[in-house]
Amino acid sequence: DRVNLPTLGELRSRLAPPLWEFLTKASLQAKQRGWHLYLVGGAVRDLLLANPNEPLLIQDIDMVVDGFHSAADVGAGVELAKALQEIYPNTRLEVHGSFQTAALLWRKDPVLGSMWVDIATARTEFYPYPAANPEVEASSIRQDLYRRDFTINALALRLTPPRPGKLMDFFGGLLDLHAKQIRVLHVNSFIEDPTRIYRAVRFAVRLGFTIECQTEEYIRYAIESGVYDRTTKENHKAPALQTRLKAELKHILQASYWKVALQLLGDLGALQCIHPTLKLDDELLRQLRLMERCLQRFDPEQQRFVHWQMRIEAIIAFLKPEYRYLVAKNLQLQDESIRRLQNLASTQEIVLESLPECDRSSQIVKLLRHYDLPMLILIALRSPRKIRQQIWHYATVLANVQPIFNGNDLKKFGYKPGPKYKQILDDLLSATLDGEITNKIEAKEFLTKSYPL
Ligand code: ATP
Repeated sequence: DRVNLPTLGELRSRLAPPLWEFLTKASLQAKQRGWHLYLVGGAVRDLLLANPNEPLLIQDIDMVVDGFHSAADVGAGVELAKALQEIYPNTRLEVHGSFQTAALLWRKDPVLGSMWVDIATARTEFYPYPAANPEVEASSIRQDLYRRDFTINALALRLTPPRPGKLMDFFGGLLDLHAKQIRVLHVNSFIEDPTRIYRAVRFAVRLGFTIECQTEEYIRYAIESGVYDRTTKENHKAPALQTRLKAELKHILQASYWKVALQLLGDLGALQCIHPTLKLDDELLRQLRLMERCLQRFDPEQQRFVHWQMRIEAIIAFLKPEYRYLVAKNLQLQDESIRRLQNLASTQEIVLESLPECDRSSQIVKLLRHYDLPMLILIALRSPRKIRQQIWHYATVLANVQPIFNGNDLKKFGYKPGPKYKQILDDLLSATLDGEITNKIEAKEFLTKSYPL
């Protein structure tokens, strides 16, 4: 190899010792059965990029078993996972039958942390038509790697003898790692699976890589040829594709680098995969900036809202009202988000019409308290400054004002408990909001005058 390839010892030093120990045990189990075991995908990429001084604890490990002697070994991945579970009894085992894959899960292990290990039986995936789900059959490691997205993700590291630690690099992944390039394995990659466009952007931005020229052309070609159409209409495989698109959007929109990634997706025209009319223009960018300010202001600790969902809502809200519901539904957003996007247009109309007529704070509260904060934020993003400021004032100040007395106080004063309490407290709140009462003495006077006993 022209590019420096780490030795087995070097690779070992890049992994946290318990992880290395796990891989060694897995390899021994495979060897005893006469199989080959490979570490594949993202873990190999991250291992090759890792710094020897900061040993990696990888949370997602993909392994592939290969080298069978009979068709009976088709369930090798599952058998290996079962053998490993005996060695690591505090794991959970999941078997995905038709794919001959198994997963072992560690939850908050004191040494390994939370770790997810997928063990697959080497397989070929082919796509009978674009945007379809993978079909599976047992085959060699090369074919398994060929179905992957990018050369840097299509590397395998052999764990079993002969020559454990040998890097299997059929598609030039190592060169691309060094050149910091994201490159697909074949021309039709994005046509087969448009979510790879989002993955290309995600890896490029996260790793500080560039999308290789030809690969970028393939992306543009896929988008020009309307690949997103297949993710929606008349395709029974569309839901699976939408699930993957949502997963990629989530990955991107919850990462610290989401703005740069979204910009790149916008430059590539890839937002069309969400809806053909969606473009990242200055107005959408402005609205997303406003959304960030709201999230900072109302939820700096990220405990109140799911921030990536708020971002995707802002993006979908940017579409024409008639498209919002379907896009939100296709992306399988939470019911609450779907409902909000569905009701946004009519709520916005009410708020835009009624808010300018409100002269008093109590009127503003009575109008806006019917809506949750995310809805008000969505409306604010797309409203003139004056309205936006009124909504801000409501959300930050008015919504927090409480009536000076509560139900217990009313009881002490001698009011008979009943439905009337709501009315009295509401009036007290309005008078407080409008500055008519500012302390308990004034509040008591107000009560005596408005609700004599
Ligand atoms: P991360 O560190 O973000 O988890 P990863 O490379 O492990 O990165 P995953 O989404 O966990 O990414 O996928 C694991 C591997 O499966 C990838 O490295 C890639 O080889 C393959 N893969 C995932 N999604 C696709 C896809 N849409 N098309 C082809 N191969 C894919």
